[in-house]
Amino acid sequence: MGTRFDISVVEKDSLKANDYIDLAIEEISRIEKLISSWDKNSQTSLINKNAGIEPVKVDAELFNLIKRSLIISKLTDGAFDISYASMDKIWKFDGSMKVMPTETAIKVSVAKVGYQNIILNDENQTVFLKLKGMKIGFGAIGKGYAADKAKELLISKGVKAGIMNASGDMNTWGKQPNGDYWKVAITNPLNKKNAFGLLPIKSGAVVTSGNYEKYQVFNGKRYSHIIDPRTGYPSSGIISATVFAPKAELADALATSIFVMGVETGIDRINQIPKVECIIIDENGGIHKSEHINIKNINK
Ligand code: ADP
Ligand code: MG
Repeated sequence: MGTRFDISVVEKDSLKANDYIDLAIEEISRIEKLISSWDKNSQTSLINKNAGIEPVKVDAELFNLIKRSLIISKLTDGAFDISYASMDKIWKFDGSMKVMPTETAIKVSVAKVGYQNIILNDENQTVFLKLKGMKIGFGAIGKGYAADKAKELLISKGVKAGIMNASGDMNTWGKQPNGDYWKVAITNPLNKKNAFGLLPIKSGAVVTSGNYEKYQVFNGKRYSHIIDPRTGYPSSGIISATVFAPKAELADALATSIFVMGVETGIDRINQIPKVECIIIDENGGIHKSEHINIKNINK
């Protein structure tokens, strides 16, 4: 998934612990095979290849992931959109993009973006991308989904507690061996040494999307790797969005969506979702938080 996963489980027998971790890794690899858009043989690639041609029958797991992705698109007024993926021909954030894409190229590409054109058929369990050249990708939700599934698997095997760290995205269950809740440090990307605070996570996930790792500068302006599906241009204004949610999948998708929605709409939307909270840092270093976040020294 292009991501490092660190997995810890609470278990007395270290051999057993290692077996559990191997199981989790297998599960994550299994999911990667299903949702990868680089793997030409994945079901996701098959859907993309048949865009504008015909519906593709997929596993229930992938079908349901796409279904949930569409729900999040509706919830965020289209800020989250797995069909953003046709834009990746235009915007590349791996250092290979030397000039700003032209307005025409962006216009042509963004015409292929739109979750309304992802057609699901429940009865046949098929997915159809209506327009030729359309593409879906799970870059903003797959990591969270994989972590949730690996966690679910370990819980089903009787593992009482653990923590998974996917490049800073934390997913936890149970308690630490000393009986304390797991805690996550929230840092300001503009000043990494100075943590705002250490927040307990009772059971759930904390996911951060940030444009301080993958971005590109053109004419002094910073472009993030999160694209506004409505314009085809990278979102701007926010440098980091951290979302707390019971599931990593939702946290992952919402952290990405906040970048597109912006501070005001982002906070407003998060406040409407039960058990979900967020902390946003804008490009001027301003800190914004949802209603129930309580960090005493947040303004330091
Ligand atoms: P990261 O962990 O790298 O910060 P995110 O979870 O924020 O990743 O997701 C960013 C990735 O999501 C992008 O690299 C791209 O693959 C994909 N993406 C970009 N814009 C959108 C969007 N508007 N909706 C859904 N996925 C997106
Ligand atoms: Mg995300």
